[in-house]
Amino acid sequence: MKLRLTSIQRFSVHDGPGIRTTLFAKGCSIRCPWCANPENLSHEIQKYCTESGVWKQYGEDYSIEQVFDICMKDKNFYGADGGITASGGEALLQAKPLAELFKRLKEEQIGCCLETSLYAPEKNLELLRNYLDYIYVDMKVLDEERADDILNAPLQLYEKNLKYLFSAFPREKICIRIPLVDEMTFTEKNINVISEHLKNFQPSKCEIFSVHNLGSAKYATLNLAYHKFRKITEEELLKVKGYLQKQSGNTCFVIH
Ligand code: SF4
Repeated sequence: MKLRLTSIQRFSVHDGPGIRTTLFAKGCSIRCPWCANPENLSHEIQKYCTESGVWKQYGEDYSIEQVFDICMKDKNFYGADGGITASGGEALLQAKPLAELFKRLKEEQIGCCLETSLYAPEKNLELLRNYLDYIYVDMKVLDEERADDILNAPLQLYEKNLKYLFSAFPREKICIRIPLVDEMTFTEKNINVISEHLKNFQPSKCEIFSVHNLGSAKYATLNLAYHKFRKITEEELLKVKGYLQKQSGNTCFVIH
């Protein structure tokens, strides 16, 4: 069994508590127009030519043993909070090999975290149920009139998995991440629906941030059209944070 990844980032401090090794899974089931990691969209290994004419590729297959050995290199730095984060792309789409890896890591008392859009079969979440210490879940477009078109995936699947997630894991393990993107996730209606969800599910915390407009060079290597979005201002971020906190009773943080 192999894990197909685009990169393994050691000493990462933005993908969960403490010091972590982050695994970027190749392949995603949705298509956010603001995606900063276009090399993670397709599950296929993709070759591309750099400006200096050198051929490279996005994606590589690793055995569980290989990834485990890389993760173990920094075991002494993880401490009580840190560990491994599976990100992407959508790491949940590779739940079987990931479960095998996480099982090995848990035997070494290493914490395991998942960053997910939740657009994956429900049984994939079940496979990871025993191994996850922390889960970051995206809340993007929840406006049912627009979600399927914008993300190119059924909102129903997300809603079903969200319910399952909050029934299977304690709320203390769940953080909601909300990317604010002008005219996509950042609309009055969408913010209202997000606020209703936060009120109903009561995650331990939520984080909001502006889309970063990164990744244009990578779009060019893949011959994909790149969309630039207006950056959400600090004032707007604080306003949304205040609104969500007031409406839902959740603790929200603005992150950059
Ligand atoms: S879920 Fe993440 S990787 Fe997938 S399209 Fe959206 S931003 Fe990109």
